[in-house]
This record gives sequence, structure tokens and C-alpha cells, in this order.
Amino acid sequence: METVETHSANDRKAISCPVCGTGSLRLKFSRVVLGQHDADYCECETCGSLVVPNVDWLADAYGGDRVDPDTGTAQRSIICSLFIRAMRYVGLVPRGGRVLDFGAGNGLLVRLLRDQGFDAWGFDKHTTMTVCRNWQLDAMAGNEAGRVDMITAVEVFEHLVDPHDVLQSMVPALADDGAVLLRTTLYDGSQHDESWYYLEQAYGQHITFYSREGLRKLAERCGLQATFLPFGFHMLTPRSGKSAGGLRRACLFVLSGLLFSMARGIGLCDCSRSSIDKTMITQS
Ligand SMILES: [Zn+2]
Repeated sequence: METVETHSANDRKAISCPVCGTGSLRLKFSRVVLGQHDADYCECETCGSLVVPNVDWLADAYGGDRVDPDTGTAQRSIICSLFIRAMRYVGLVPRGGRVLDFGAGNGLLVRLLRDQGFDAWGFDKHTTMTVCRNWQLDAMAGNEAGRVDMITAVEVFEHLVDPHDVLQSMVPALADDGAVLLRTTLYDGSQHDESWYYLEQAYGQHITFYSREGLRKLAERCGLQATFLPFGFHMLTPRSGKSAGGLRRACLFVLSGLLFSMARGIGLCDCSRSSIDKTMITQS
């Protein structure tokens, strides 16, 4: 997610869990973010998600003079475009289907999807899609792309102050059998602690971390159901929409794994170099 706008108006002061909407928050640990802001990471007693309830540094985190920490965006866009291709093979998105990338950043995923024959569009209220600007939308619902077969949100939801409002805003844009495809790393309180890499406290942009139960409950609040797909993707669908049963998920695992392996064979889908670049940025 690439943003440069001042976010101070969107800082968060949450009393209850912004994921499930009802749970009480219990302090899990504290860290210093951006080298100067004290952050309390709290676990929801109902859904087990990890959230930073009080956030007052977003203007700093997204400030224009900060380096862009997202060195993995190109490789990740390639991985996502191949995964969506595999979803097409197993019938989870139609051939030539309409896809809307939420938080599209520079528009690379939109470009890659269009190159595969999808009718792809992007929405990002903070950034101009320099790679694919002709297919950037100004609004989600009632947009010129019409109702869409799939909305993608890749490495977006962990940035959100109010994930319910954002997910709810996507629902009217979805076709009846459409799906929201998320990629965000899930939180597991039995495994993750203050050393978890995904906190990314050096940048201060990750503030909401979903447990599996939390993502289920968030989906339910918006009339959707969550299905957990291979390779860290999550699909949210209307109850009457497409389902990804065990056989479909197994086929998706094999096909997307095959595509990733082929891409890796020619030097793509490999984030090791971007990780090295990220380390260099952190240390500079
Ligand atoms: Zn919760």
C-alpha cells in the first residue's frame, strides 16, 4: 500500500476491537514505532486479533519525506497475478472477469492482470497509478467499471484504522457471485510475540493484525464468509456466492504452486533480493 497523504485525521482511538467489533482489548506487549512513538499492541479477548488501539503517528508514518519500505511490491504483484490466474483455472474467477484492485499503489497488479486478459481496474485514494493510470477509479461503488467479479486487497488490511468500514464499502461493488481476495499475514497469539517481523514497527504502518477467527467475524459483520486459501490468500464471499471446497483448494494449491515454480525458474516470484534491499533501507 503506497500512500503519501497526511493521515492524522485517520488516527485511531479504539475502545473495543475494530476487527470483531465487540471484544475487549488486553495489553499483549508494547513497542516503540518509528523510533519515537510508544505503541501498545493489544489482543482481543473475543476474536484473538492483535490491534494497536491508540494510534497517533500515521501522519509521520506516511509522511512524504520517508523512504518507501515496500520493496517487495513488484514480486508480490507477480505472485498475486499468477495466483489469480490459477483461481481462473479452477473457476473461482471468470475468464476475462472484472477485477478491482483496492489500494492499488502504482497499479502494477492491474497492469499484469490486464495483460492476462482480465478487465482489471484499480482504486487508491492516496496514490496515482503511474503504471496503469487509465484504469484508476475515483470511487468504489457506482464506479465506471460496474459491479466486479473480484476485489483484491493485497497487503492493505493490516494498514486499516477501521477494517469494517472499508470492507463494508466493497460489498456494493461486488457482483452477486463475486469475491474479495485479501492477502495479509494472519496473527496467531500462540506463535507470535513482540519479535514478530510483521509488526514492522520501524515504519509504523501496520496497526491491525487478524486472527483466523477475527477475519471470519469481520467477514460476517459485512454479510460475507471467509475461506482460507493456499499461500496466504483469503477469500471473502457472499453466502450465495462461489465456494472454494477442499478439492478446489487442493487444485488451486497445485496449480498456483506450479505457476510460482515456473516463474521462479526465470528469476521471478523471489522476494529475497527485495528483503535484502529492505534491510539496507532499515540500516541506512
Ligand atoms: Zn476482536
